[in-house]
Amino acid sequence: MLHNPYTLSFSKRQERAFREKYFADSLWQVRVAFLLVALLYAAFGFLDTIIVPEYRKEFHFIRFAVVIPALMGVILLSYFSFFRKIWQLLLMFSFMVGGVGIIIMLALVPDNYAYYGGLMLVLFAGYFFIRLRFLMASIAGWSLLIIYNVAAIFFSDAPGELIINNNFFFIAANAIGMMAAYNIESFTRRDFYLNKKLDARQLEITETNKNLEQKVRERTSELQYAKERAEESDKLKSAFLANLSHEIRTPMNGIMGFAELLKNPQLPGEQQREYAGIIEKSGKRMLNIINDIVDISRIEAGVMDVSLEKSNINEQLEYVYGFFKPQADDKGLQLILTDKLSTGKAMVLTDSEKLYAILTNLVKNAIKYSSQGTIQFGCNENRSKLEFFVRDTGIGIPEDRQQAIFERFVQADIEDREARQGAGLGLAISKAYVEMLGGEIWVESKIGQGSTFYFTLPYHTGSV
Ligand code: ADP
Repeated sequence: MLHNPYTLSFSKRQERAFREKYFADSLWQVRVAFLLVALLYAAFGFLDTIIVPEYRKEFHFIRFAVVIPALMGVILLSYFSFFRKIWQLLLMFSFMVGGVGIIIMLALVPDNYAYYGGLMLVLFAGYFFIRLRFLMASIAGWSLLIIYNVAAIFFSDAPGELIINNNFFFIAANAIGMMAAYNIESFTRRDFYLNKKLDARQLEITETNKNLEQKVRERTSELQYAKERAEESDKLKSAFLANLSHEIRTPMNGIMGFAELLKNPQLPGEQQREYAGIIEKSGKRMLNIINDIVDISRIEAGVMDVSLEKSNINEQLEYVYGFFKPQADDKGLQLILTDKLSTGKAMVLTDSEKLYAILTNLVKNAIKYSSQGTIQFGCNENRSKLEFFVRDTGIGIPEDRQQAIFERFVQADIEDREARQGAGLGLAISKAYVEMLGGEIWVESKIGQGSTFYFTLPYHTGSV
């Protein structure tokens, strides 16, 4: 329910807000109404002189010394801040003062109808004009009726039927006044209630709009990001394709060219072996690229499985060392396996194929991107993790590319690709493997001084 049907009150908090608003809306009307009522009250003093000259003095005293000063007093008080607290009581009091003034006149001249009309006017002003709330107005209105009856019965010589007659009018005026005041106030309250609701809804809408705008902004920036990624990926793919065709064409040309030369039956045995060796090397190079492409496709399709088994980390490191030693020697690089796990701790539960692929990629790159110096690699136990490293004294990687090189098809320096070979897949595959095994991979590098690649793996020693 909106409000109490009898008192018209809202719930406590809302009632307070309503009264504040009602007061603010009423203040000027109260002042104007009181001024007008006071003027009318004074104007009717002219009638006193004409119709009841014998009581002129008394009636004028009531009007000019009591009622009008009381009304003006209320106007004056309305300029003080405490008026807000007591204004309804003051209004009720003024309503009664105005009414009692007329009732006294009525008691003195009961046979003069002009004063009955006067009381009716006071009732109307009290109920409709001075912004007195329904409940207070009703109390004052009915009290005036009682006071009238007391005055008429005990303090005047009005005949019985006149009193009954007047009661009919006054009761009817009170009933009508009450009903009308009730309606006026309940509509005012409804207005207030609906406005409040409207404000709340408005706030909600503004809030929703704000959220919506925020969402749109977020979505737009997400889309922008996605678009940039797509464009970048597109560029990378084009670069990759160009690179790939080079990567495939070079060994392919080698294979075709030397196969052609091999056709010559007069070719000496030593040259035959040399050409066959070149064909084999070129074939391997192509196979490597194709394997990388197959691997990255399987990773991206989510069909690359992890198969855990116990394997000896030290043996794997030694195997990688043995595998790359000749290549390092060929390039005049020193390859050193510096750190191994202690013998009793070397058995680890991991996917050895993937670990091998990661180490191979990193050492291969270290050799590929270094022209002199030392390549060190190894593994340490670090806070219940295995931390592998591969350190070289090669060309280094610019800081702004150190993240990007782990993405597929990315090379730190696109210009350099022809000189070094590679499709930019090795690190992407390594990163995917490290993450599949539950570790992290990163690089520390200074351009011209060398790079150190690190990766961690969980140190599981449990059985399968
Ligand atoms: P690629 O087949 O081109 O070597 P990778 O994914 O293995 O592809 O490496 C990506 C890029 O990162 C390389 O092209 C190279 O620019 C850079 N890079 C990788 N390892 C090293 C290293 N040890 N020293 C310098 N640059 C490196």
